[in-house]
Amino acid sequence: SAPLKIGLIPADGIGREVIPAAQRVLESLSNGPRFDFVHLDAGFEYFQKTGTALPQVTIDTLKNECQGALFGAVSSPSHKVAGYSSPIVALRKHLDLYANVRPVASVASPAFPNQKVLDMLIIRENTECLYIKSERQEVDPATGLKVAYADRKISEYASKRAGTMAFNMALTRQQLREQKPLENRIWKHKPRVTIVHKSNVMSVTDGLWRETVRAVKEDNPEKYGGVDMEEQLVDSMVYRMFREPEAFDVVVAPNLYGDIISDGAAALVGSLGVVPSANVGDNFVMGEPVHGSAPDIAGKGISNPIAAIRSAGLLLEHLGHTQHALKMYDAVDAVLADGSILTPDLGGKSTTNEVVEAVLKHL
Ligand code: NAD
Ligand code: MN
Repeated sequence: SAPLKIGLIPADGIGREVIPAAQRVLESLSNGPRFDFVHLDAGFEYFQKTGTALPQVTIDTLKNECQGALFGAVSSPSHKVAGYSSPIVALRKHLDLYANVRPVASVASPAFPNQKVLDMLIIRENTECLYIKSERQEVDPATGLKVAYADRKISEYASKRAGTMAFNMALTRQQLREQKPLENRIWKHKPRVTIVHKSNVMSVTDGLWRETVRAVKEDNPEKYGGVDMEEQLVDSMVYRMFREPEAFDVVVAPNLYGDIISDGAAALVGSLGVVPSANVGDNFVMGEPVHGSAPDIAGKGISNPIAAIRSAGLLLEHLGHTQHALKMYDAVDAVLADGSILTPDLGGKSTTNEVVEAVLKHL
C-alpha cells in the first residue's frame, strides 16, 4: 500500500529533540505502515529569523499532501510580540482539528511507588472558547485605569463535534479494554463520559455546551445507550481528579478548562513529559505532546521523549493503524514499568537517546 505521508514539525526547544525520537520509533515498527516523512518549519525561532511563525508552505503541504503530522512544541512568549501568533493554534484552525484527545494513564513502576491509579481520556474542544483571542483593552473612564475584555465563543456546532468524539471514544476504549484480561484493566465499569462545565455561573455559554453535549447521547440512545453520562463543575473536577482520578473514563471539556485539566492530570502520572495528545479532525490528525518547549532543559539531551512517542502512537491510532499504536504504547509502558531507564523529570538519570533505545528494545 502507498506510504503514509506525515509532516514533521519539531518547531522550538525540546520539540527538536523529541520529534526525531518519535520518528525513530515509527520507523522501527516491524510490519508497520511505510512512511514518507516531510520536514516542515514553524515556531517562534522561525518567526525571529523570517518574520512569520507559520509559513504558507507548511500549511499547504499539510493540507494538500499529508495524511497526518507530528508537532513538537512552540515557545510562545507571555508578552505580546508584534506580528507573532502561535502557529499551533493557527494549524488547529487551518486543518479543522476540532478535538484535542489527551489520554492520561498511570503505569505501575518501582520508580514511582505512590502513584495514583488512573486511565482517563480528556477530550478538549480545540477551536473556540476563550482561545478565539478576541481581546481588547481600553481605559475605564470611571477609574482612569486600564480594563481588558475577552470574548468567549461556545457554538452548538463545535460542542456537538467534541461531544460526539467523546462518546465515540468511550465506545472505542471499551472495545480495546475487552482485548485485555479484566485484572489488567484500570477502568472496570461501563464506559462513562464526564461533561465538564461551569454552567451554574455561566449559564449562557457553558449552559449551551452542557445541553449540546448531553444531547449527543439523548438523541442517539441506540448508539450511546451503553455509555454512562455524568457532569462535573470544572473546579470540583480538579478536586475530584486529584482525590480519586480512578473515577474518570472519558472527560470532555471546553478548550480552556480542557487545557488546564490535562496539564493537571499530567502531574498525576509523574511528568508532562509522558502525556501525549492528538489534534483530530475528520480528515487529518496531528500528534502533539502536551508539554511545551521546556526552555529550562532544551539542548541538554535529557528531555523525555515518551510524550512524543505516545503522540506518534495516537497519530497511528487515529489513522486506523491501531494494532501498531498498541505495540508502541506497550513498549513505552514496559520501559516505565521497568523503571531503570528514565529521564530526570521522572527521577532518573538517563538521556533522551537512552530512553529511545530502551523503547526500541521492547518493540
Ligand atoms: P513546558 O511544558 O515547556 O515546561 C514545564 C515544565 O515541565 C518544565 O520544567 C519542563 O522542563 C518540564 N518538561 C516539559 N516537557 C518535558 C519533557 N518532555 N521532558 C522533561 N521535562 C519536561 O511549559 P512552560 O514552561 O509553561 O512553557 C514553556 C514554553 O512552551 C512557553 O513558551 C509556552 O508558551 C510554550 N508552550 C507550548 C505548548 C505547545 O506547543 N503546545 C504548550 C505549552 C507551553
Ligand atoms: Mn497546555
